[in-house]
Amino acid sequence: MGHQRIIYMDHSATTYAKKEVVDAMIPFFTQHFGNPSSIYGIARESKTAIDTARAQVAKALGADPDEIYFTSCGSESDNWAIKGVAYANRKRGNHIITTAIEHHAVLHTCQFLEKEGFAVTYLPVDRYGRVDPADLEKAITDKTILISIMYANNEIGTIEPIRELAEVAKKHKVYFHTDAVQAIGNVPIDVKAQNIDMLSLSAHKFYGPKGVGALYIKKGVRIENLIHGGGQERKKRAGTENIAGIVGCGKAIELATADIEGHNVRIRAMRDRLLKGVLEKITNARLNGHPTERLAGNFNVSFEFIEGESMLLWLDDEGICASTGSACTSGSLEPSHVLLATGLPVEISHGSLRLTLGDANTEEDVDFVLEVLPKVVSRLRDMSPLYQKATKDGGCNV
Ligand code: PLP
Repeated sequence: MGHQRIIYMDHSATTYAKKEVVDAMIPFFTQHFGNPSSIYGIARESKTAIDTARAQVAKALGADPDEIYFTSCGSESDNWAIKGVAYANRKRGNHIITTAIEHHAVLHTCQFLEKEGFAVTYLPVDRYGRVDPADLEKAITDKTILISIMYANNEIGTIEPIRELAEVAKKHKVYFHTDAVQAIGNVPIDVKAQNIDMLSLSAHKFYGPKGVGALYIKKGVRIENLIHGGGQERKKRAGTENIAGIVGCGKAIELATADIEGHNVRIRAMRDRLLKGVLEKITNARLNGHPTERLAGNFNVSFEFIEGESMLLWLDDEGICASTGSACTSGSLEPSHVLLATGLPVEISHGSLRLTLGDANTEEDVDFVLEVLPKVVSRLRDMSPLYQKATKDGGCNV
């Protein structure tokens, strides 16, 4: 490892916490450590801080503060929305609709409910990863109680037509939940104007702390509790509050949504230069996800004849933090369910690279990746018998 600096291009995995966020959190570990459920002074400080954070989250979403519930992470928010609505509305129906490209926090929750007697439809997506509102409408039956469709995909960055999809849900009087974990700070959101009934978010994806999330639940939604115990979060989510985390979540969402367009313009310009450079310098490469309806910082490209994991190791050796389209589960390489759902063949999906740019990046980072990545790809292809054969046979095209 001869490199001097780290180039962090994995903002969709997590982000660093901003200094203002950490500064806002610190007093709540030491000075204002009171339990908000107690009645003395230091406890009131904690309670007021939670109220402020709740108002900050509500404002960022266009919701009312009493429609925001803090949780321990995005996964908990997703689990709560889906299991909570499923259990509370069982008498009305047992059918849930989601998509094939959701995060595992949604997919595995739905699969769990299938074992409990619920029926789940996993909607397909087009080659860009978009769900067709017409497909959603066709899938709805009189037993459908919940639709859960992610706002933006964590792997390929595709932004779903949420307004249209939620419109369909409203027309058929079915609850609409969206996993907006990747969207906050990148896409303007207004839950009222967009007819969203529930929305999940997670602070560590928008320069806040890890281990804190929130679920927006529109007033009137019938939902069962997931965590039982004390009366916190207006008796809906038990557990002594993670006050510092909640304060950090509030501050982070305020900062992340203050100038979404300005942030996107800067990040998109870097991402586009990176993408253009990579596609010019490397043959047999193709972009995954939608060409325009995608998160500003998301780059996801498949390189034929490459093993994504090896690419990551070489990039790591150069100080570049990236991610791939495969998840290493118990030693075997599972191709990404998202890439497969877009119709990408298994062999090509294995050679996928996700770079997600964000506030940590500079133009120099882009220059460096443009210098290093083509060398890494060509080194790996030199070692690939398949690549040797394909080029000898007269070239190949992805
Ligand atoms: N949903 C999406 C789309 C995500 O990208 C993630 C995190 O990677 C999650 C849910 C889970 O969030 P958390 O890590 O806070 O549990």
